[in-house]
Amino acid sequence: MKTMTCKQLGGPCEFELRGTTADEVIKAQDRHLKDAVAQGDATHEEALKAMKGRWKNPIGGMGWYKQAKRDFAALPEI
Ligand SMILES: [Zn+2]
Repeated sequence: MKTMTCKQLGGPCEFELRGTTADEVIKAQDRHLKDAVAQGDATHEEALKAMKGRWKNPIGGMGWYKQAKRDFAALPEI
Protein backbone atom coordinates (compact mmCIF):
# COMPACT_ATOMS: atom_id res chain seq x y z
CA MET A 1 0.00 0.00 0.00
CA LYS A 2 1.31 3.43 -0.95
CA THR A 3 0.03 6.95 -0.64
CA MET A 4 0.10 9.77 -3.16
CA THR A 5 -1.46 13.16 -2.67
CA CYS A 6 -3.91 14.91 -4.93
CA LYS A 7 -1.12 17.44 -5.56
CA GLN A 8 1.35 14.78 -6.72
CA LEU A 9 -1.18 13.79 -9.37
CA GLY A 10 -1.74 17.30 -10.65
CA GLY A 11 -4.50 18.38 -8.26
CA PRO A 12 -4.61 21.37 -5.94
CA CYS A 13 -4.85 19.82 -2.45
CA GLU A 14 -3.08 17.48 -0.04
CA PHE A 15 -5.81 14.83 -0.01
CA GLU A 16 -4.19 11.40 0.39
CA LEU A 17 -4.94 8.63 -2.06
CA ARG A 18 -4.08 5.07 -1.17
CA GLY A 19 -3.60 2.04 -3.36
CA THR A 20 -1.45 -0.97 -4.01
CA THR A 21 -0.87 -0.07 -7.66
CA ALA A 22 -0.43 3.19 -9.57
CA ASP A 23 -3.66 2.46 -11.45
CA GLU A 24 -5.60 2.23 -8.20
CA VAL A 25 -4.24 5.54 -7.00
CA ILE A 26 -4.97 7.21 -10.34
CA LYS A 27 -8.55 5.89 -10.21
CA ALA A 28 -8.87 7.17 -6.65
CA GLN A 29 -7.67 10.58 -7.82
CA ASP A 30 -10.19 10.53 -10.67
CA ARG A 31 -12.94 9.84 -8.10
CA HIS A 32 -11.62 12.46 -5.70
CA LEU A 33 -11.61 15.13 -8.45
CA LYS A 34 -15.17 14.25 -9.49
CA ASP A 35 -16.38 14.28 -5.86
CA ALA A 36 -14.72 17.61 -5.15
CA VAL A 37 -16.17 19.27 -8.24
CA ALA A 38 -19.60 17.73 -7.55
CA GLN A 39 -19.46 19.38 -4.14
CA GLY A 40 -18.84 22.72 -5.78
CA ASP A 41 -15.07 22.88 -5.27
CA ALA A 42 -13.89 25.08 -8.15
CA THR A 43 -10.20 24.54 -7.33
CA HIS A 44 -10.43 20.97 -8.64
CA GLU A 45 -12.14 21.83 -11.94
CA GLU A 46 -8.90 22.42 -13.81
CA ALA A 47 -7.39 19.12 -12.67
CA LEU A 48 -10.59 17.24 -13.51
CA LYS A 49 -10.60 18.75 -17.00
CA ALA A 50 -6.97 17.72 -17.46
CA MET A 51 -7.76 14.19 -16.24
CA LYS A 52 -10.67 13.86 -18.68
CA GLY A 53 -8.50 15.23 -21.47
CA ARG A 54 -5.94 12.50 -20.82
CA TRP A 55 -8.50 9.74 -21.43
CA LYS A 56 -9.61 11.48 -24.64
CA ASN A 57 -6.04 11.97 -25.79
CA PRO A 58 -4.24 8.77 -24.79
CA ILE A 59 -1.01 9.61 -26.60
CA GLY A 60 -0.68 13.01 -24.92
CA GLY A 61 -1.82 11.55 -21.61
CA MET A 62 0.68 8.71 -21.76
CA GLY A 63 3.59 10.87 -20.62
CA TRP A 64 1.65 11.95 -17.55
CA TYR A 65 0.60 8.36 -16.88
CA LYS A 66 4.14 7.03 -17.15
CA GLN A 67 5.40 9.78 -14.85
CA ALA A 68 2.68 8.99 -12.31
CA LYS A 69 3.68 5.32 -12.44
CA ARG A 70 7.35 6.22 -11.96
CA ASP A 71 6.50 8.50 -9.04
CA PHE A 72 4.40 5.77 -7.51
CA ALA A 73 7.14 3.16 -7.93
CA ALA A 74 9.63 5.47 -6.19
CA LEU A 75 7.45 5.82 -3.09
CA PRO A 76 8.13 3.77 0.02
CA GLU A 77 5.61 1.11 1.06
CA ILE A 78 3.57 2.15 4.08
ZN1 LIG B 1 -7.71 17.36 -4.15
